[in-house]
Amino acid sequence: MTKWLPFPIRVHPLFVLLALLCIVTGYFMEIATLFGIVLIHELGHAAAAKNFGWKIREIQLLPFGGVAVVDHAGNVPAKEELIVAAAGPLQNAAMVAFAWVMMWVGVGEAAWWEYFIRANMMVALFNLMPILPLDGGKMLLSACGCFLTITAISPTGICVF
Ligand SMILES: [Zn+2]
Repeated sequence: MTKWLPFPIRVHPLFVLLALLCIVTGYFMEIATLFGIVLIHELGHAAAAKNFGWKIREIQLLPFGGVAVVDHAGNVPAKEELIVAAAGPLQNAAMVAFAWVMMWVGVGEAAWWEYFIRANMMVALFNLMPILPLDGGKMLLSACGCFLTITAISPTGICVF
């Protein structure tokens, strides 16, 4: 649990196991970079949610990614949902832009920045797939709420008009 954020960051035991496996096999920088990218991605969601006054329960780092757990009981405007869902991939876009600037200026190793850009794009593109509970699925569902009159939303996340 962290003291420097108003919510805890929890790391799943399998994530720790995966990290240890990467360290043993010599991929420490790769897993540390991915850990940082996923954490910044989730902090983007949390910052947007906090901006709208949502209560953030915690950020979870799982073996396959991360989750910002928020309390809003599904009763927030679709526009807010859309912005909060988009905030994670936008963090990845910002990190890619930052990496391009660092490469252009000549700070650090170009090979590491190239890995950093590829990892960011992988995380962003995976999250933008239009599948729930990924960001793309949430954005699609929220867009349905922004632009259409929805009378019901099925448990599968498919808009029913
Ligand atoms: Zn996300």
